Amino acid sequence: MRIGLLGCGNVGAAFVNLVNERATAIAERTGIRLSITKVAVRDAKASRGVALPAGAFVTDVNSVVEDPDVDLIVEAMGGLSPAREAITAALGKGKPVVTANKALLAETGAEMFAVADATGVDLLFEAAVAGGIPFIRPLRESLRGEPIGRVMGIVNGTTNFILSKMTEEGADYADVLREAQRLGFAEADPTADVEGFDAAAKCAIIASIAFAADVRSADVYREGITSIGANDIAVAHRLGYVIKLLAVAERTKGSEQLSVRVHPAMVPATHPLASVRDAYNAIFVEGAAVGSLMFYGRGAGGDPTASAILGDVIDAAVNLRKETHAMLGSFARPVFTPINDMTSEYLLSFEVLDQPGVLHAITGVFAKNGVSIRAAEQVGIGESARLVFITHSAREASVQQCLGELGGLGVVKSSDGLIRVVEQ
Ligand code: NAP
Repeated sequence: MRIGLLGCGNVGAAFVNLVNERATAIAERTGIRLSITKVAVRDAKASRGVALPAGAFVTDVNSVVEDPDVDLIVEAMGGLSPAREAITAALGKGKPVVTANKALLAETGAEMFAVADATGVDLLFEAAVAGGIPFIRPLRESLRGEPIGRVMGIVNGTTNFILSKMTEEGADYADVLREAQRLGFAEADPTADVEGFDAAAKCAIIASIAFAADVRSADVYREGITSIGANDIAVAHRLGYVIKLLAVAERTKGSEQLSVRVHPAMVPATHPLASVRDAYNAIFVEGAAVGSLMFYGRGAGGDPTASAILGDVIDAAVNLRKETHAMLGSFARPVFTPINDMTSEYLLSFEVLDQPGVLHAITGVFAKNGVSIRAAEQVGIGESARLVFITHSAREASVQQCLGELGGLGVVKSSDGLIRVVEQ
């Protein structure tokens, strides 16, 4: 099986090394010998630490896709173009494609899946979500008959590293971000991670597969972790929770609609997701018959991601030999439940004047908007007091209305906004 590789960076180079190391063992097990014949990169002269002849590197992506000596394409370039054109052209020529490109699939997944099904070859993408964790295949195959109610994932290693450090060391967001950048866990420009864009792309792909729907990044409600402070983490800890950035995809309104969202959440300390630390990822799936499942492991990095690609390549090679492919199905656009229509418990905290009648004024606003309080805490901080509430399950629009009205009360000096609480 002659592989044409598009991109030889972190993931592509790790994939070349893995194929070189494992090709004999794979041939003994499957009867298929994998070899990488041609590699497209931007700079064909750069040294990459991979054992391939210098002549294998080219800068023309099309020349790899079109090459009659290439049977299968691995796309590890990233970005929308020229990846989209290259994948479409390869599928059109009957060449299976394995891709790690979450940005592309979260934008054009349904379109790409339709092309793959129409041409009758594989488009496999295990590496696009949660790197080395086998999750897409179990979701797509093992759980095919399972009505999935909700999927909740910690799918971004950088933000989980930052939140874990803040939790364990009581450190502030900015200090931990600097440490994460020094250790190589965060990019110099961390926006895609800390503002939740990366998690939103993965959330869109997860929702598409879990609910056979055409879900795109822009459909995902998104909040990052930049507003989470050491104080939020400490309050969560005192109340028996851990703050995590969650990607959530769930059926709502009697299963007719979908909610897709990425935001920080208070996860009960006893929930399996609460124990996922450092840069690890985990995805928690709730099915009607199977109950709860959790998939855990390294969600990024060259080697884990290359491992997921290699598994897909072997599958695609076996399928190509059998002249079959994994059907992806056609995905229609779903109806999404707006975040304001969701119900949840919420953590709300305020700095208020420390004087008589303040609590009464604040709880009056909650009562007027039909939001009831499950737990409250008051801590004196000099002239002021910090008031912390956990609500019972309430409609988000009502909680937002409370926040707006409380902001207008003279006794409320500042509000930390809301953090949604995962009910166990
Ligand atoms: P990377 O290190 O930036 O590598 C990208 C590679 O693609 C480079 O070799 C680059 O060539 C080549 N390339 C980019 N644009 C090209 C073009 N127009 N023509 C030819 N070659 C081009 O990226 P990466 O971290 O390996 O990520 C690759 C993909 O894997 C992305 O879709 C990413 O989302 C996905 N992914 C990454 C991880 C991870 O941990 N890194 C995990 C899961 C999924 P040059 O080297 O010459 O610049």
